Amino acid sequence: MRKPIIAGNWKMYKNASEATSFVEEVKTALPSAEKVDAVICAPALFLQSLVKTAENTDLRIGAQTMHEEKEGAFTGEISPTQLKDLGVEYVIIGHSERRQYFNETDQSANKKVVSAFGNGLVPILCVGETLEQRENGETGSVVEAQVEKGVAQLSADQAAGLVIAYEPIWAIGTGKTATADDANEVCGLIRKKISSLFNSETADAIRIQYGGSVKPANIEELMNMEHIDGALVGGASLEAESFLKLLEAGANA
Ligand code: PGA
Repeated sequence: MRKPIIAGNWKMYKNASEATSFVEEVKTALPSAEKVDAVICAPALFLQSLVKTAENTDLRIGAQTMHEEKEGAFTGEISPTQLKDLGVEYVIIGHSERRQYFNETDQSANKKVVSAFGNGLVPILCVGETLEQRENGETGSVVEAQVEKGVAQLSADQAAGLVIAYEPIWAIGTGKTATADDANEVCGLIRKKISSLFNSETADAIRIQYGGSVKPANIEELMNMEHIDGALVGGASLEAESFLKLLEAGANA
């Protein structure tokens, strides 16, 4: 059985005191960590204080991106070793907004995924098609190619510990969700791809999230699907009450 993982992606929202009060509120009401992994991926500025605020609780803290090098002359960037040193445990890699606005590619995502594992972080690798690709019937081939390039050079053990977030770009922040059946179909294709690239044990173990306008009203149906092991959530992760409802749905799946 794969344990569900619900991750909030705060993007560039909240100030320091809003971030802290969210974690103060959520940490006392978390469902059991045996039933669901709860992660908040916060702006880099707040990571250190949120790790402290969440200390000795089951809330895990993640970053939204990182550079692949451990250190160097890369003005403005943050390294995996710096994240690890703070107590950060997860990192989102290759989110479609990073690909669209910051020139990230499957190749750069792959370097970061490899580096995240090499430095003790769990990467959440994002993949997903555009509306045009979906309408042209290219969803499967686009997503499979992103997965194949994204996991290049990983060992089967590493791949088993990876989290993949299937996020159709047209569903992010738009209020449009893929139907649970469509989302499950693509997540199933991703699992099959992992099986062919590694082996069936790895495919059984890897956790695949759906992301794109997930909210308390639609998460249950998504979580009931065979290949959906959790959610990567933007807008609906910003309010403590709503995030807690998502966690409950994950814990009860
Ligand atoms: P959304 O964002 O839930 O606001 O659609 C999801 C994401 O970008 O990860």
